[in-house]
Amino acid sequence: DSFDGMGLQENLLRGIYAYGFEKPSAIQQRGIVPFCKGLDVIQQAQSGTGKTATFCSGILQQLDYGVIQCQALVLAPTRELAQQIEKVMRALGDYLGVKVHACVGGTSVREDQRILQSGVHVVVGTPGRVFDMLRRQSLRPDHIKMFVLDEADEMLSRGFKDQIYDIFQLLPPKIQVGVFSATMPPEALEITRKFMNKPVRILV
Ligand code: AMP
Repeated sequence: DSFDGMGLQENLLRGIYAYGFEKPSAIQQRGIVPFCKGLDVIQQAQSGTGKTATFCSGILQQLDYGVIQCQALVLAPTRELAQQIEKVMRALGDYLGVKVHACVGGTSVREDQRILQSGVHVVVGTPGRVFDMLRRQSLRPDHIKMFVLDEADEMLSRGFKDQIYDIFQLLPPKIQVGVFSATMPPEALEITRKFMNKPVRILV
């Protein structure tokens, strides 16, 4: 039970240890490797279990840092959570030189556009602002190969279903999808059936 045996890049391991993590949590132990293999994963886990570092590590491991295009999109139900994920992604990816931006409501659209224009590897955001950026073509979906829904049940209960579906329609086909959710209500199951390919299920 260590991060060392997961096949992670040296500079990602450095970021993980520098952040202060010594040993993987249960969800990290079971979830990081399948995610890094490019598999679709459904992880049913409460917050507080270490799910953020699970998908952040999976994304950071697979990015092509030579291409400054958005390759991973993470959706979260609230601005605060999106900004928290942005911080973790940036910290863990510090030695990899990752460029991350949070696209959330209540901030300047112009500023989002300027930062996206300047080039990022990962966008973390709330569904409304992310859809807005896609619709305006400020966020180009062509290079996106990983898509994570964090707290999917919470996003659905906040009425983001249509926006999540709209976003899926704009993304390239055959992208890797990760769904993290404390519970699996019917609407969440519907998303997994519609948009995921032979997902691995991990229950923590
Ligand atoms: P999360 O479930 O992602 O919101 O994480 C919950 C809390 O656990 C956060 O404060 C993390 O920084 C912390 N955490 C996550 N993974 C680890 C780990 N492997 N070792 C120590 N703390 C961790």
